[in-house]
Amino acid sequence: MRRAKLVSTERIFIVGIAAVVAFASLFAVFMLRTRAEQGSIDRAIAAARTQVELSHDLTQAAFLLTDGVSATAGTDVDDLARELERGHLTLRYGDSVIGFDGVDDPSISMAFDRAGDVLSELALDAHLLQQGAQPTATVTTVVAGAETYQAEISRVVDRLSQISSQSAVRSQQFQLAATALLFVLVIGLLALMAHRQELSLLAVKRAPDQRDIDQLTGLVRRAYFREQLTAALDATADGAGYTAVLVIGASVRLGVQRELSPRTRDRATQEIARRLRATVRSTDLVAKVERNVFAVMMEATPRVDDAARVAIKLRTAVEAPIQLGSLLVQVDLTVGIALAPVDAESADELLMKATLAQRAAIEGDDYRYYSADLRPETGSRLQIVSHLREAIDTGDQLWLAYQPKVRLDDSSVVGYEALVRWDHPTLGALGPAQFVPIAEESDLILDLGSWVIDEVCRQQAEWLDVHGATVPVSINVSARQFRQGDLDDVVGVSLDKHGIPAEIIEIELTEGVLLDDTRAPIDNMERLRDLGVRIAVDDFGTGYSSLSYLKRFPIDILKIDRSFIRELSAGNQDAAISTAIIALAHSLQLEVVAEGVETGEQYGVLQALGCDTAQGYFFARPMAADVVEHGRPRLVAVH
Ligand code: C2E
Ligand code: CA
Ligand code: CA
Repeated sequence: MRRAKLVSTERIFIVGIAAVVAFASLFAVFMLRTRAEQGSIDRAIAAARTQVELSHDLTQAAFLLTDGVSATAGTDVDDLARELERGHLTLRYGDSVIGFDGVDDPSISMAFDRAGDVLSELALDAHLLQQGAQPTATVTTVVAGAETYQAEISRVVDRLSQISSQSAVRSQQFQLAATALLFVLVIGLLALMAHRQELSLLAVKRAPDQRDIDQLTGLVRRAYFREQLTAALDATADGAGYTAVLVIGASVRLGVQRELSPRTRDRATQEIARRLRATVRSTDLVAKVERNVFAVMMEATPRVDDAARVAIKLRTAVEAPIQLGSLLVQVDLTVGIALAPVDAESADELLMKATLAQRAAIEGDDYRYYSADLRPETGSRLQIVSHLREAIDTGDQLWLAYQPKVRLDDSSVVGYEALVRWDHPTLGALGPAQFVPIAEESDLILDLGSWVIDEVCRQQAEWLDVHGATVPVSINVSARQFRQGDLDDVVGVSLDKHGIPAEIIEIELTEGVLLDDTRAPIDNMERLRDLGVRIAVDDFGTGYSSLSYLKRFPIDILKIDRSFIRELSAGNQDAAISTAIIALAHSLQLEVVAEGVETGEQYGVLQALGCDTAQGYFFARPMAADVVEHGRPRLVAVH
C-alpha cells in the first residue's frame, strides 16, 4: 500500500522532470528560432531601407539629369547616366538582399514583383540615356520609375516593420507565458521533491516482505506493525497530531450451532481481515497481532476522537453477520485505543496500553480509550519486563493464589486453580492481566511459566507433607510455552524435584493450541499425559474450537468460559449452549468445569444441567496458600 503510493509518486516525479526538460528544450528552440527570424527581419528591413535611400538617390540623379540636360546640354549627361546605371545595379543587387526567411507575406511579394518590373524599365531607360537617347522623356520615365520603386520598397519596409513589431510582441508574450509556465513547473517540481523527501522518510519504513505477512489474511504481522509504529512515532515526533493504535479483539459466535470447522474459522478470520482493511483508510496500517486480535495504526490524526470514530465504523462493518455457506457467523469486536504522544511515546508501550484498553472493553462498549486506572502509571512495558525478570529470578515478589474447584453435587472442593500474583514494592499488586500478556511477548513467559509449575509442585509437596493428602491443582500454561514442546520435561523436572505424583497436577491450555494443524499439539499432550498429568481446555467457547475437534486431542477436562455463565439463567440461550457443551463433553468422557459462577441462580442452573464442577466467587475467590482450607468443602449446596 505504502509502496504503491511511493511508486506512483516516483512516477509522477519522473514524468514531472521529463516534462520540465522537454518544455525547456522546446522553449530554447523556439527562442533561437524567434531570434533568428527577428534577425532576418531586421536585416531585411535594413536592406529595404538602403533600397529606399538608393531609389531616392536615383530619383535625385534623374532630376539632376533632366536639369543638366536643359541647363548644360550634353556635358554631364554621361556622368549622370553612369550614376543611374550604378544605382540600378545596386538596386538590382539590393533586391536579392531583401529576401529573408520565415516571413511569408503576400503584400511584400507583390511589392517586390512590382518593384522588379519598375527596376527593369529603369534599367532600360538608364541604358537609353547612356546611348544618347532623347533625355527629357526618358528622364521623366526614369524619375517616375524610381519614385514608384521607392514607394513600393517603402511599402515593403512598412510591412516589414509591422511584422517585426508583431513578432516582437508575440515573442514577448510568448516569453512571458513561457516564464510563467516554467515557474509553475519548477514550483511543482520543488513540491514534488519535498513530497518525495517526505516519502523517502516514510520509505525508511520498509515495505513488508514475505515473513511479515500473515498467510491466512494477507495482513502484516505484529513485528512489522511494531516496526512501522516506531517509524511513525519517530516521523511525527515534532507533533503533527496523534498517532493512534487500535487493538481489536474479534470473537466469533455461531449462535446455537457451535460446530466450527478450522476451514470455516479461517474463512471467518479472512473475512474479518478483509472488512477491517476495507473500512480503514489506505494510509492506515492493519495488522494481525495475535490469533484473534488485530491492530490498526492511524498516523497524524488531528483529533483525539478520530480513532473512536474509526472504532465505531469498524464495529459496524465487522459485526455484520458473515454468511459462510450455510453458516451465519456473528463477530463481536472489542476495541481498545491508545494515543501517542498522550498515552505513550514508544511503540511497545502504545501497543501495550491499547491492549490493556481492549481487554478492559467489555461487550457493549463501542471502544475503550486507555486510561491511567487501567494499570499502575509507573509500569511502562519495559519497566514491567525488567522488574518481572528480577521477580522471577528472586522469586520473592511472586506468589500463587488458589481458587477452589467445587463439585456441584456435593459442594466438595475437588481441586484448585493456581493463579499467579505479583506484589511489587513500587508498582503495587499486579494481576496476571497486567503482566502475563507482556511476558508472553518474549521468552520471559517461559521462565514465569516454569516458576509457576515449580511453585505449584513445591506447594503440593508441602500440603502433602502437612495434611498427608491433597487435591489436584491446575496450572495455566501459556500457548507459547506449550508450543515450545518441552513442557513435559519442565513438569517432569519439578515433579521429581519435589517428589510428588503427577496425578495431582493439571495443565490448563487455551483453545488456541488446538488449532495447530500439525500433530505437534497432540504429541505434546500425549507426552504430558504419559507423565500422568491431566489436561484441561480453558476458556472453552471463546475461540474457534468445536466439540468435534476436541475428539482428536487427549483432553480430560473442559472449562466452559465465564462469558457463557455470566448471563446464565434457566431456559435462556446461554443455558442452551451450556446444555449442549455439557452433553457433548460427557459423551467424550470429559469432565466439565463452569468458570466464573457468581450467583446461586447460576449454580442452580449448572447443577440442573449436570455440570460436574465449578469455580467462581460464589464459592470462593482465589486465595493465598496459607488460608486454603485444604480438602474441606467450602460451601454447602444452596439447593
Ligand atoms: P483464567 O485462567 O480464565 O482464570 C480465571 C480468572 O477468573 C482469574 O483471574 C480469576 O480470578 C477470575 N475469576 C474466578 N472466579 C471468578 C468469578 O466468579 N467472577 C469473575 N469475574 N472472575 C472470576 P485472574 O487471576 O486475574 O487471571 C486472569 C487470567 O490470567 C487467567 O484467566 C489466566 O488466563 C491468566 N493467568 C493467571 N495465572 C496465570 C499463570 O500462572 N500463568 C499463565 N500463563 N496465565 C495465568
Ligand atoms: Ca485458567
Ligand atoms: Ca478460564
